[in-house]
Amino acid sequence: HKPVHVIGGGLAGSEAAWQIASAGVPVVLHEMRPVRGTDAHHTDKLAELVCSNSFRADDWAGNAVGLLHAEMRKLDSIIMGCGDAHQVPAGGALAVDRDGFSGAVTERLEAHPLVTISREEVAGLPPEEWDSVVVATGPLTSPDLADAILDLTGEGQLSFFDAIAPIVNFESIDMDVAWRQSRYDKEGPGGDAAAYINCPMDKDQYEAFIDALLAGPKAEFKDWEHVPYFDGCLPIEVMAERGRETLRHGPMKPVGLTNAHKPDQKPWAVVQLRQDNALGTLWNMVGFQTKLKHGAQSEIFRMIPGLEKAVFARLGGLHRNTFLNSPRLLDRQLRLKAAPRLRFAGQVTGVEGYVESAAIGLIAGRLAAAERLGRTLEAPPATTALGALVNHITGGHLEGGAGSFQPMNINYGLLPPLEAPKRDAEGKRLPNKERGRAKKRLMGERALADLAAWTTGAPVLEAAE
Ligand code: FAD
Repeated sequence: HKPVHVIGGGLAGSEAAWQIASAGVPVVLHEMRPVRGTDAHHTDKLAELVCSNSFRADDWAGNAVGLLHAEMRKLDSIIMGCGDAHQVPAGGALAVDRDGFSGAVTERLEAHPLVTISREEVAGLPPEEWDSVVVATGPLTSPDLADAILDLTGEGQLSFFDAIAPIVNFESIDMDVAWRQSRYDKEGPGGDAAAYINCPMDKDQYEAFIDALLAGPKAEFKDWEHVPYFDGCLPIEVMAERGRETLRHGPMKPVGLTNAHKPDQKPWAVVQLRQDNALGTLWNMVGFQTKLKHGAQSEIFRMIPGLEKAVFARLGGLHRNTFLNSPRLLDRQLRLKAAPRLRFAGQVTGVEGYVESAAIGLIAGRLAAAERLGRTLEAPPATTALGALVNHITGGHLEGGAGSFQPMNINYGLLPPLEAPKRDAEGKRLPNKERGRAKKRLMGERALADLAAWTTGAPVLEAAE
């Protein structure tokens, strides 16, 4: 077979190369370090962890990223294998010795007879004779390659000074306080006059909230993150610094809204949440992009009436990030519609995090190998954590809503919901907390069963066996 070319030997590219080679297909992995560095990497190792050394929670039955770990282990992930081999104690989390981990990934790939590692920058579109390419160049994709991809996609931009607002799990919003209504009952694109969830504040609550925003600790930025932000997406704490009333005339304006629970009390300010996924399980806080530290965000945003018990699927943040508008640009095979020989993987596809990046590398690698072997393979079903991530980046996150596409960690809101059991085996009513736990376990069991069925029906690796 002709080789598949993988560009970028980070978390996603290393995993993709491993999966391709494991399927019996030769692969050339092009990594620009140490010939050319990035602003965040410090070594020449493959799969370098640029910041924390944690792969986060490891419990498949209680945590979405733990479920992703379990699924990846079942599919012989090199990232999980080397992570497990170089674990350091971290309670319920999987944390790794970073040098041991990336050293092991590098050695395993170097030792594989079907893997060739080429230390060079691919500084533009790959040559035409590379007929199958996985681009896994990450949030710090080198500018020449980023520009070439931009030209190909016709998108206005690829690199963002990325301001993201927090996302809340619907179930954690207190609908006895909040209510659904669009401003002036105006119907949205779907004809829905109750498209938003509204959280009311009185004057004292608003003043206390502004004080907290102004006092809250903000994240510091590295030099390379000094990109100006546009007026259209100012962090809320920056708006608050411009004047105590700014937010009340901006994203928190109370006009055109009537509190359904207290129709005669005009709210002083209103926080709105907009549906973020087709399932309606995730809601983002409109206009609440922020660079407050994560701990402070949870504390301050729980001051908002209705959000006292908010569970955040993602907190807000501001950083440089290069990612594609994948729902518009990629097909279900993770191929660029405009140039199907290019497949994308990792953070550049709009997932967030080490494990998620590697997960998309795993799927992209298997899809590329299957294509080379002349087999038909589809991504796993959306009931699996792997499939849910692919679904998120290829347009399943919100029909027709590609404009609001934002990078995301894996979370249960991306999987189809399941009805939690109301009673235990003896018929005793389960408290809410236990129902939540039972539901996560059921979602985990469903995912692992569906993944097993997918693996049986998708024998890419048989080629190597
Ligand atoms: P990377 O791991 O960055 O791999 C991309 C590789 O491509 C790099 O090795 C790069 O050298 C190479 N490359 C780029 N352009 C070219 C080219 N033209 N030719 C050849 N090679 C090229 N996630 C977490 O889970 N936890 C964290 O603590 C965390 N901290 C982060 C801190 C920063 C500063 C950044 C930017 C991101 C962080 N992330 C974190 C997010 C994300 O998980 C990581 O960026 C992750 O490494 C993404 O994996 P990737 O494989 O997509 O990209």
